[in-house]
Amino acid sequence: MVSQLHKFIFDGLPVRGVLVQLTDTWTEILRRRASNTQHGAYPTPLRDMLGQMTAAATLMQSNIKFDGSLTMQIMGDGPVKLAVVEVQPDLALRATATLIGVLPEAASLSHMVNARNQGRCAITLDPKTKFPGQQPYQGVVPLFDDHGQPIELLSEVLEHYMLQSEQLDTTLVLAADANMAAGLLIQRLPVQGAGNLEGSMVSRENEDAIGRNEDYQRIAILAKTLQAEELLTLDADTILRRLFWEESLTRFEPLHGTNGPRFACSCSRERVARMIVSLGAEEAHSVIEERGELEVACEFCGVQYRFDPVDTAQLFVDPTRQAAPGSSAH
Ligand SMILES: [Zn+2]
Repeated sequence: MVSQLHKFIFDGLPVRGVLVQLTDTWTEILRRRASNTQHGAYPTPLRDMLGQMTAAATLMQSNIKFDGSLTMQIMGDGPVKLAVVEVQPDLALRATATLIGVLPEAASLSHMVNARNQGRCAITLDPKTKFPGQQPYQGVVPLFDDHGQPIELLSEVLEHYMLQSEQLDTTLVLAADANMAAGLLIQRLPVQGAGNLEGSMVSRENEDAIGRNEDYQRIAILAKTLQAEELLTLDADTILRRLFWEESLTRFEPLHGTNGPRFACSCSRERVARMIVSLGAEEAHSVIEERGELEVACEFCGVQYRFDPVDTAQLFVDPTRQAAPGSSAH
């Protein structure tokens, strides 16, 4: 099965859904990590967490009308310091995680990233074209619930995020293993204002509808009956038929291949060169002195960029590459 994404709506109801199953896309990410001699393969619990993040970020990117990248990050306070997934508007995606130390075979989400309840999950939307001074939009949620209790399901963290930042009821089912990263998203459509209602009015109406739409509630309950094993082994048609056989669905053309989710890394020698320049000549030359060359591996795809002493000297001679004054001070 190729990686694919299916969108659908429930006829006449304010509810929509997306189902994603990443196969080759996901195994490519795992293969590159496993062949990285510095890190080696992900331990199972981290692999599954990153897979769930990858599925979720793909679902969220496909579900918004936004021309820019969506980055989902977990900044952990446990052995997993950082997990990142970046999805472009055309669903090209990449993912990586940083682990310090070892993980037990059955590490929970909080064991990995929320050991002292300080872990956070951030979603950043970075528009492709920005007006001068425009910052990317970022929303952050903690990894604990309203009572301060650690949340053990990534899907719950993200449902929380969607409710807080988008005021939208969202149901997520996520699963990942060595062969697939998959997810189902069900969302209540925002209440539409009649024509030109003011934004505030629309948003108040929408807030009133949170948690109250019976059609959404019924469909959300059906969605939550989906088991990880079904999500990871059945095809989209079977999953949707099993879950929603009593509902009337309109399906859209599935997205796959060059229109669908796929692995792609946006790193380049040029970007690595800019990063080295931003470190400053002193730092760069001290590494050269110590190791004879500068070697930078892309955390996402594993490609190694090597800069020998001549390359490195060149970086700091070429005036077009010079960092802005003061930017290399630290
Ligand atoms: Zn790369």
